[in-house]
Amino acid sequence: SIALMPAGVPSPNRVQDRREPQADGARDGFRNAPDTDPSLAGNREWADGIRSRMERSTLGVDTVEAHTVSDGEALEDIVDRAVTAGEAWRALGAAGRAEILHRAGDVLEARRAELLEVMGSEAGKVIEQGDPEVSEAIDFAHYYAVSAEQLDQVDGATFEPARLTVVTPPWNFPVAIPAGSTLAALAAGSPVILKPARAARRCGAVLAEALWEAGVPRDVLHFLQVEGRELSGRLVSHEKVERVILTGGYETAELFRSLRRDLPLLAETSGKNAIIVTPSADLDLAAKDVAYSAFGHAGQKCSAASLVVLVGSVAESERFRRQLLDAVEGYEVGMPWQDGSRIGPLIGPAEGKLARALTTLEPGQTWLRQPERLDDAGALWRPGIRDGVRAGSEFHLTEYFGPVLGIMTAATLDEAIDLVNAIEYGLTSGLHALDDAEIARWLERVEAGNAYVNRGTTGAIVQRQPFGGWKKSAVGAGTKAGGPSYLYGLGTWRDVAVRE
Ligand code: GLU
Repeated sequence: SIALMPAGVPSPNRVQDRREPQADGARDGFRNAPDTDPSLAGNREWADGIRSRMERSTLGVDTVEAHTVSDGEALEDIVDRAVTAGEAWRALGAAGRAEILHRAGDVLEARRAELLEVMGSEAGKVIEQGDPEVSEAIDFAHYYAVSAEQLDQVDGATFEPARLTVVTPPWNFPVAIPAGSTLAALAAGSPVILKPARAARRCGAVLAEALWEAGVPRDVLHFLQVEGRELSGRLVSHEKVERVILTGGYETAELFRSLRRDLPLLAETSGKNAIIVTPSADLDLAAKDVAYSAFGHAGQKCSAASLVVLVGSVAESERFRRQLLDAVEGYEVGMPWQDGSRIGPLIGPAEGKLARALTTLEPGQTWLRQPERLDDAGALWRPGIRDGVRAGSEFHLTEYFGPVLGIMTAATLDEAIDLVNAIEYGLTSGLHALDDAEIARWLERVEAGNAYVNRGTTGAIVQRQPFGGWKKSAVGAGTKAGGPSYLYGLGTWRDVAVRE
């Protein structure tokens, strides 16, 4: 038998981080939650304890079982209950809802260890990756609580929240993304049906338990695992649903839209992101950032760098390639409960286009480092790097969502930007350069919602880097998660004029 963390008990041994949040993070009474500091011995022991429970964890199982629907009648009943309960939730007012959301942030902090345990056990997240994700979920709670109160302060207009929001999150950020979408809708005054990604449903269940514990009524937040495509489609396209928040592939957004012509969809979709490295860059830093952006969480992030474009002398010399290889060598691959693993398994066996990208080269390409399968199932891979990716090739233009990076080369910065802008997505984009004119030129031209200079492309931080893309990386209003206008997309405004 395994000892489970009792619900809601503060993680006993986590010592507070020594780093102070930066002063500019304190706007509007909001501060980013600090990540766990692994340099403190107490925190390392705390993490060991989580890993020891991970492999056989059963967190969330009961909640998933209790909240699975498989027939239309039950679904209708839940939709109606949510819409009705939403009236009282909205009538609570922004301040009343904000109080519960702030409490939700505190409960999530208290359940940090549980969330890390279930993320590792179910979704393959190593603690190094999961810990900032929990911080992000906590940030969403406090940030949207503050945002809700600001909605009430717009002169002469009243915000009318959606009467029902359906949240369909992905499995790759199984806590932060469902938390962000759900908390935003709740903050705006809308009841929510949270339909977890199948591969991360236990993570979603633990999240829902935390929000209920904080005081969100059960009819205001329904956690609902829906059996079958037909019934899922019915929920998403239900006429009483006034917002659908999707984070997932572009094809899923298309599928959703095919279900209902006027679907009120807000979607953060795919990405195929690149980092450009020019000769003015700090190459040590660039190599480290490229490696982390490409291979953190085995490359399974919309924000991951899938291409690095080397400019001029960086392209011609072997130096950067060697540094990149060195940086990647440092990543141990293994299950998240194994001490030292920094890259965990894929969510399932590599299939389709990803399997091809991990095994097959296109004309002109060579392996700088060949991906290596480490298990029978095909989920654990040593990351790979292919050199010689050509303009217009499949690897240049396709999103893969796995541990493989491609190298492209360009004679000039403008040529490099052309290669990046030729991609139909525009989520994140990176530049490593220390030359101000190069930075200005890149910022002027690059087509991406999140443009990062001398920083990796993953790990957007609430309030500091509101997250969301351009082009085929967003569908709908294109508002940015963790940013000042996100809640605006979750309802409409009523202006009243009375003739005097
Ligand atoms: N917000 C995450 C980041 O900045 C990415 C989210 C996603 O992969 O959908 O890394």
